[in-house]
Amino acid sequence: MLIGVPKEIKNHEYRIGLTPAGVRELVAAGHQVIVQADGGTAIGFTDELYQAAGATIIASADEIFATAEMIIKVKEPQPEECKKLRPGQLLFTYLHLAPDPTQTQLLVDSGASCIAYETVTAPGGGLPLLAPMSEVAGRMSIQAGAHHLEKAQGGLGVLLGGVPGVAPADVLIVGGGVVGTQAARMAVGMGANVTILDRSLPRLRQLDTEFNGRVNCVYSTVDALETLTAQADLVVGAVLIPGAAAPKLITREMVANMKPGAVMVDVAIDQGGCFETSKPTSHQEPTYVVDGVVHYCVTNMPGGVARTSTMALTNATLPFALQLANKGLGAAVAADPHLMAGLNVHDGKVTYQAVADSLGYDY
Ligand code: NAD
Repeated sequence: MLIGVPKEIKNHEYRIGLTPAGVRELVAAGHQVIVQADGGTAIGFTDELYQAAGATIIASADEIFATAEMIIKVKEPQPEECKKLRPGQLLFTYLHLAPDPTQTQLLVDSGASCIAYETVTAPGGGLPLLAPMSEVAGRMSIQAGAHHLEKAQGGLGVLLGGVPGVAPADVLIVGGGVVGTQAARMAVGMGANVTILDRSLPRLRQLDTEFNGRVNCVYSTVDALETLTAQADLVVGAVLIPGAAAPKLITREMVANMKPGAVMVDVAIDQGGCFETSKPTSHQEPTYVVDGVVHYCVTNMPGGVARTSTMALTNATLPFALQLANKGLGAAVAADPHLMAGLNVHDGKVTYQAVADSLGYDY
């Protein structure tokens, strides 16, 4: 199969659909890969590295979209990219169609077959192509939180791990899923006193076993939130109710009762945020202050570590990309219901129920 990897064109997006290592695997399996010039240069994946991996470098996105049978990307296609897609062409990328009627209609009109990373499923449950970005954001949340706790960043002037003779900081993680677990791992590693809140008792049991008592695993109630936010130096918001906006678990009053200079990192901001005082921010201006509390609400945290994120994403997408390239769309989705779950648009129709329902398409 001829596989095309265009340079991402969304503002400040430095990730790319495949690493050179991913290209090499596809080429070894007998496929041809074309990569747009300078597509990965910003994160150290130079054209020379792609060529060494067996790719052909192509100057323009137009040529890639005009010739490739499968396009592998990171972000949802921008309108100008949607218009370049062709009937029968395969698009493999994040789409997030439910809140995006314009993109959905453009993809329907294109006649292309579009597989959304975020709806591909895994045999044991979970979303294997979303998980790597949650892992990145979870780990980053503690790094960002620790940085903003520094005095010069507007924080309390507290070191997460303390030092011998000085107690460590209190880190509260709300939601013990992928983001929350990775955040806890980092916070424990830095020596903080860590508490995870979750609504799922089975999940709390797993976390208790996993961290071997090193993390306080507490059932999430308003009472617990009220008490623990008032004590916390750093709060990480990591809840998810699949398919729904994040619940506003931490109210304005709770924020007002926090220590001035405490830091809140709302990772769930991409679903609207789980603090009442959250509003989306960017890597250029990541924080703002409410009632003396520093808020970090960057919607695309993995973009800040684009090289790590690109590698993590390729690790997860490559097995599916290989299936698609080796078998073609029809046989690949027939053989794997989890890949089939990713198909959102096919042959001029919306083929994912939640998207069809939310945007009023026939399913
Ligand atoms: P997940 O499904 O793995 O975990 C969510 C957890 O929240 C679950 O354990 C669930 O039981 C828990 N939960 C639900 N309601 C709760 C409540 N009332 N109180 C306490 N816990 C509750 O999800 P995830 O992959 O960890 O993602 C978490 C959030 O982070 C999502 O909104 C995701 O979109 C977001 N995210 C954001 C970025 C970013 O750049 N900002 C990057 C990756 C992920």
